[in-house]
Amino acid sequence: ALTIGVLALQGDFREHLATLDACGVRTRAVKSAAQLSQCDALVLPGGESTTIDKLARAFDLRDPIVSAIAGGMPVYGSCAGMILLADEVADGTADQQTFGGIDMTVRRNAFGRQVDSFEEDLTIAGVAGPPLRAVFIRAPAVERVGSGVEVLATTSAEQSPDRIVAVRSGNLLATSFHPEVTGDHRIHELFIRIATKEQ
Ligand code: GLN
Repeated sequence: ALTIGVLALQGDFREHLATLDACGVRTRAVKSAAQLSQCDALVLPGGESTTIDKLARAFDLRDPIVSAIAGGMPVYGSCAGMILLADEVADGTADQQTFGGIDMTVRRNAFGRQVDSFEEDLTIAGVAGPPLRAVFIRAPAVERVGSGVEVLATTSAEQSPDRIVAVRSGNLLATSFHPEVTGDHRIHELFIRIATKEQ
């Protein structure tokens, strides 16, 4: 059976573990390289990308994650996790590193501050059914994508239309928003299909 790890250094990893549990896959909280090696796929949660980066380095997880991505491990990043999957960050801190993997530039806090957090119903390529309620919390947006990157969703909200907020690049999936807090499992189900090569 498929085992999906959730990087459990900081952020809302518990919500991702609970959502994946509800989807019926085996899950594992990942805080060490040994735990990562027992996973077929990995989720990078929302939180604070600079903190997750620092902790990943301190826990000797950065290099194993970078290698896993290079080796084709399916990885899904939400919000801070999207930032961590970007090859390039706009508005990062001076020493901020990402794991990289997706040829894109992501702007942190692209919609403003915490008070500017918002929700929007989104139509997302690969997600069937009614529009998905997307929750944006001090969210990033994608400013540039390379040729191998598929744009799955853009915002239409009047205050900030046409911002790229969901992308896929091979086995890598990233969203600006937080599907783990809504009870709608369709983004995690999409990721499970990617991880099992069904999509
Ligand atoms: N603004 C955060 C960052 O830069 C991301 C916010 C989130 O994950 N909800 O890491």
